[in-house]
Amino acid sequence: MIYGKNKRKVLLKTLTGDKSFFMTDTKILGILGGGQLGRMSALAAARLGIPVIIFCPEVDCPASYVVRETIYASYDDLTALEKFSEKVDFISYEFENIPVETIDYLEKLKPGSVRPGRQLLDVSQDRIREKSYLNSLGIETAQWAAFEGLEALEKTLHSWAAKAFVAKTVRFGYDGKGQIFCSAQGIANNPDFQDFLMRHDGQALIIEEAVDFSDEVSVIIARDINGKTALYGPMLNEHKHHILHRTTVPAPFPPALASNAFSMAEKLAEGVGLVGVLTLELFVTKDGRLLANEIAPRTHNSGHWTIDACSVSQFEQHVRTVCGLPVGSSARHSDAEMLNLIGDDILKTPDYMAQENACLHLYGKHEARAGRKMGHVTFIKPLSD
Ligand code: AMP
Repeated sequence: MIYGKNKRKVLLKTLTGDKSFFMTDTKILGILGGGQLGRMSALAAARLGIPVIIFCPEVDCPASYVVRETIYASYDDLTALEKFSEKVDFISYEFENIPVETIDYLEKLKPGSVRPGRQLLDVSQDRIREKSYLNSLGIETAQWAAFEGLEALEKTLHSWAAKAFVAKTVRFGYDGKGQIFCSAQGIANNPDFQDFLMRHDGQALIIEEAVDFSDEVSVIIARDINGKTALYGPMLNEHKHHILHRTTVPAPFPPALASNAFSMAEKLAEGVGLVGVLTLELFVTKDGRLLANEIAPRTHNSGHWTIDACSVSQFEQHVRTVCGLPVGSSARHSDAEMLNLIGDDILKTPDYMAQENACLHLYGKHEARAGRKMGHVTFIKPLSD
């Protein structure tokens, strides 16, 4: 019994370099949000012996099936948040629409425990703040402007010499929701654009030039409390109906493009003082430039392949960094192609189960609605690079 305990201590000491973490009482990680990202972080935490408590408004959420406890309450329920903060040692989140006020309240209750911190969340919740912040760091984006009426829009499009543009809601857009592509010609008489404006009346909108891109890519960066980083990617991402369909690694890009994408992510991570994981989505233009499109203050669908093709996945990096442990290596031991299982794709499960190199992940969602991410499958093969 005593021998067993000591042996564990020695092992963990060598593993982490942190003598205190695993040798004192069990540390508990609290995660706001109970979707599949929370579920996969909780599974990674379990592998490290770290229990997770989820805070989530939706009963039966995917993460709830794999965690020690789920507190079902809304993000503005102060009593429930207090109870949550008393039960956990570290607090993180798994999606970007957690109210910043919730983070502020938890940070007040448990100073220093919420990771990543509020700035990253705040910036990624608002497309105007996001683009302004990226540009302030010298990270290039598509040309953009706040929507301030048709007349101003026409002038802006003229000054950009843009053929087409994208209008997006500043907040709460995802997977192509709350956005419209339009030709720059005749916008005052474009019925679809008029309809979009009516449907989003009263909401702040952003206008972006429609980028003529050849590819969409992403990079994921993990950064620990000592500022040490680990990077994944760049990943090549293909979308169907604005939802990620396939991610391929390695992506067929020259090394200069990869190092450019990495340095953008590093700049951003340093800028916000990241402790945790963030994702930067980028366009590769037809003339070979990289433009940042969106920040996710969290693990990302384009990083799911890391579970099966790396020793340390994006989810383990998330758990490690927010719990104050060192980042691990992001080295890939296999090439990978990840396919999302969306809606009825779940019916293909038996086929994937029969394939030798297919690593299947299902999220435990009961209803396969159209557009709903039900799971993913990663095909791995020996390294090519
Ligand atoms: P987003 O919600 O900003 O990630 O946009 C969803 C998808 O719309 C992206 O993955 C792109 O395929 C497309 N998209 C968004 N913004 C632009 C843009 N400025 N130019 C061209 N395509 C865009």
